Amino acid sequence: VKVNGKNDYMLHSGDMDHIAIEKLTIQHEMHSALRNQEFVLHYQPQYDLASGQIVGMEALVRWQHPERGLVSPAEFIPAAEESGLILPLGEWVIEEACRQNKAWQDQGLLSIPVSVNLSLRQFSQQNLTGKISEILRQTGLDPRYLELEITESMTMDVERASQYLQELIDLGVNISIDDFGTGYSSFHYLKNLPIARLKIDRSFVRDIEQDPSDAAIVAAIISMAHNLQMQVIAEGVETKDQVHFLRSHRCDEMQGYFGSPPLSSAGAQGLLSEKLNG
Ligand code: C2E
Ligand code: CA
Ligand code: CA
Ligand code: CA
Repeated sequence: VKVNGKNDYMLHSGDMDHIAIEKLTIQHEMHSALRNQEFVLHYQPQYDLASGQIVGMEALVRWQHPERGLVSPAEFIPAAEESGLILPLGEWVIEEACRQNKAWQDQGLLSIPVSVNLSLRQFSQQNLTGKISEILRQTGLDPRYLELEITESMTMDVERASQYLQELIDLGVNISIDDFGTGYSSFHYLKNLPIARLKIDRSFVRDIEQDPSDAAIVAAIISMAHNLQMQVIAEGVETKDQVHFLRSHRCDEMQGYFGSPPLSSAGAQGLLSEKLNG
């Protein structure tokens, strides 16, 4: 199958052929999936390490596929980015996360920020700030309860990224740097922009107890973040030992299976209600 000039090489390998066909199928199916409201958000709680309180939720998209069941974002986000469908999909994610968070607040549940992942294409699109501002107005969510997660690769063009980030920050939303430590790091943007928090990538957290390099890196990120008045959250926390390490190094928050896996909106709401009732 010849997709376009760039993908010519796919002609030479049966495996690559298969991948190309699969990608086209996914891209085609995603369009109708968006129309048919087959996408859902799951929410993973974030915990304060000192108090154990829930301090935020990360919205993670899933595709409720009629035949294939719940499809993970790793399987369709890259195709969505490539086809441009990430723009309407990403906008839906922001809108749905804001709507849900506002609904929880209106039910008297804990008021906590919801964080949403932005893709590079979304981040660099025309008038992202205008779109987000409109979503906040329509849903009635206070901007401080929305956090946008970007990755270091989106800050490669420091000048431009700084301008986009400043516009978003002026709206009153929070910015966090996702997968911190895995990308191209420029400390320029950290120095010049009020970024609320760093999310330490789970690849550094995994072997924190066994690998002295990982331990040193995590300790350094925590201390740097604090010196820059940023909060720091560790991702992919799975064990009690990791919690002990992070606590003893004064990491602020954690997210991971140890606290809770991502939950359906009903599950997340149940958890928030439980907290409310003691
Ligand atoms: P991410 O932003 O790094 O999200 C964290 C991922 O780690 C989630 O995978 C989550 O389920 C998983 N995770 C959480 N705790 C643990 C743990 O203790 N151990 C391990 N091994 N994994 C853990 P998920 O939901 O499959 O999402 C994968 C990626 O897809 C996300 O990585 C994010 O980059 C992307 N993604 C998800 N939702 C969206 C979205 O709405 N928009 C965009 N652009 N990307 C999204
Ligand atoms: Ca994320
Ligand atoms: Ca992450
Ligand atoms: Ca990661």
